[in-house]
Amino acid sequence: MIVIKVGGSAGIDYDALCDDLAELWHKGQRSVLVHGGSDETNKLAQALGHPPRFVTSPSGYTSRYTDRRTLEIFEMVYCGTANKGLVERLQGRGVNAVGLSGLDGRLLHGKRKANIRIIEQGRQMVLRDDWTGSIEGVNEGLLQTLLDGGYMPVVAPLACGENGEALNVDGDRAAAAIAAALRAETLLLLSNVPGLLRNFPDESSLIAHIPQAEIEEYAGFAEGRMKKKVLGAQEALAAGVGRVVLGDARGAGCVSRALAGAGTVIQ
Ligand code: ADP
Repeated sequence: MIVIKVGGSAGIDYDALCDDLAELWHKGQRSVLVHGGSDETNKLAQALGHPPRFVTSPSGYTSRYTDRRTLEIFEMVYCGTANKGLVERLQGRGVNAVGLSGLDGRLLHGKRKANIRIIEQGRQMVLRDDWTGSIEGVNEGLLQTLLDGGYMPVVAPLACGENGEALNVDGDRAAAAIAAALRAETLLLLSNVPGLLRNFPDESSLIAHIPQAEIEEYAGFAEGRMKKKVLGAQEALAAGVGRVVLGDARGAGCVSRALAGAGTVIQ
C-alpha cells in the first residue's frame, strides 16, 4: 500500500505522473492519490476578484486564510478541475479512479479552527471566520471498500467538521493521516523540488536521508510550505508508516523514482 501526495505548484507534469501511477497500478500496486491545487486556486481567486491571502502562525507555519468566499473558490478547484483533471487522466489510462474530497463520506473528519492566531508585521493578531481545520480521523472503511472494489481513490484535502462543515485542510498532513490509517508502507510527498534542500533553492544541496529520530534537527532547513511536509512526514512515521519520501513530481517516472528512493528518504 502506498499513498502519494502530489502538489499543486507550478511545473508539475500531471500526464507523466499519471502514466507512471497507472503503470504501477496495473502491476498490482494498491495506491491512494491525494492532490494539491494551490497555484490554480490562486489564479482563480485573482480572476474572481478575491485574491489569496497567506498568513503565518506564531510557530511559523504558513496557510491560506480561508474566509467563506475563499472556501468556495478552494472547492471549485480542489473538488472540481484539479480532482477531475487527475481522475480523467487516470481513466484515460485504464485506471478506474474515483475522485472524492475528504468531506464526502466523512473520509476525513476534522475540527474547525474558526479563530486563528497569526503574526503580521511582528504583531500577533486573531483572524475570525476562518474555514480551515485540523484532521482528527480517517474513514478508513470507505477507502478500503473502494480499494477492494478495484477503484483508485483520488482525494482532495477537505475535511468534514464536527457540524458537517467543509474545511480546508493541509494536503500533506491529509496524506499522512490517510497513510497512517491504511498502514501504508510508503508515503510519497511529491512537489516541484527534488526533496528537502539544505540550501534552498540550490538543488544540488539535497538531503538524501534523514533518520526518524533526527527529523527535528533537519526541520530547520525547511521554510515556507516545506515545513508542513516535514511535519506531515513526522506525523506519518510516528503513526507507523514505514517510510516517507519527499520527492520530485517533475518529469517522467517520478513516482517510480521516488519509490526507488530518489529524494529525501525519512525512515
Ligand atoms: P506543493 O504545493 O507542491 O505540495 P509546496 O509549494 O507547498 O508544494 O512546498 C514545496 C515548496 O517548499 C518548494 O517549492 C519551495 O519553494 C519551498 N521550500 C522551502 N524550503 C525548502 C527547502 N529547504 N527545500 C525544498 N523546498 C523548500
